[in-house]
Amino acid sequence: MSALQGKVALVTGGSRGIGAAIVRSLAREGADVAFTYVSATSEEKAKALVAEVEAAGRRAIAVAADSAVPEAVTAAVGRTVAELGRLDVLVNNAGIFPYGPVEDVSAEELDRVLAVHVKAPFTAVQAALPHLPEGGRIISVGTNFTDRATMTNIALYTMSKAALGGLTRALARELGPRGITVNTVNPGPTATDMNPVDGEGAEEVRTSTALGSFLTPEDIAATVVHLAGPGGRLITGTAITVDAGVNA
Ligand code: NDP
Repeated sequence: MSALQGKVALVTGGSRGIGAAIVRSLAREGADVAFTYVSATSEEKAKALVAEVEAAGRRAIAVAADSAVPEAVTAAVGRTVAELGRLDVLVNNAGIFPYGPVEDVSAEELDRVLAVHVKAPFTAVQAALPHLPEGGRIISVGTNFTDRATMTNIALYTMSKAALGGLTRALARELGPRGITVNTVNPGPTATDMNPVDGEGAEEVRTSTALGSFLTPEDIAATVVHLAGPGGRLITGTAITVDAGVNA
């Protein structure tokens, strides 16, 4: 039997990049998967991903839900349970990459980034908890920058993602007695729209890794799947860095 047979997962920001790879990988292990997205331009991609998962024999739903809007996050959890019947794995993945000098960050940008990276995972956890059974999993996608700020202009991004470490450790203690594990996966440079391999400065980024390589979304998804499956049974309250050795 596949490791995640009979389980249901919700992945925020699953239409592209790392989130889409997590959706595919969880489904490959047998899970039914709901995922969110925000951009109208991603609607077709989201539909195609649902069709792909369904063609492989699993159920999937795509939910348009802006992580910056708490009610939308809560509603996405509600739809997951209503349409897929349960919720076992919550993956907080949706993210944006504000880049620039700290003096240039507007009050609006500060609010939006904190809403997407901090408030949304917290709200999703609150909404998911009444449904998560013993053996449930909460997995958040952070960044390797929270251990080492290896470049400039990332203060807002790094500050907002660092909150996930505190949430993860504290919730692991709080939810341990309920048999729910809580962890963060901290990716390094991963080839997605957010961090294109042919983008400006990509060569510098590549050489900053010990292994001389960008990661692929599947590299990050593999660790998420491990945490979600039986191998993650006794891993909780920690962060796993998957960064090709940038932080080494
Ligand atoms: P992409 O830009 O490729 O994809 C972002 C995904 O998040 C899309 O599915 C997007 O939806 C969704 N999303 C963005 N904002 C919102 C929102 N407000 N509400 C709902 N969904 C939203 O990024 P990556 O796949 O590269 O990044 C995924 C996660 O990994 C992020 O949290 C990022 O910070 C983190 N990360 C990425 C690294 C990298 O090098 N790529 C390195 C370290 C961490 P839509 O398609 O609708 O826009």
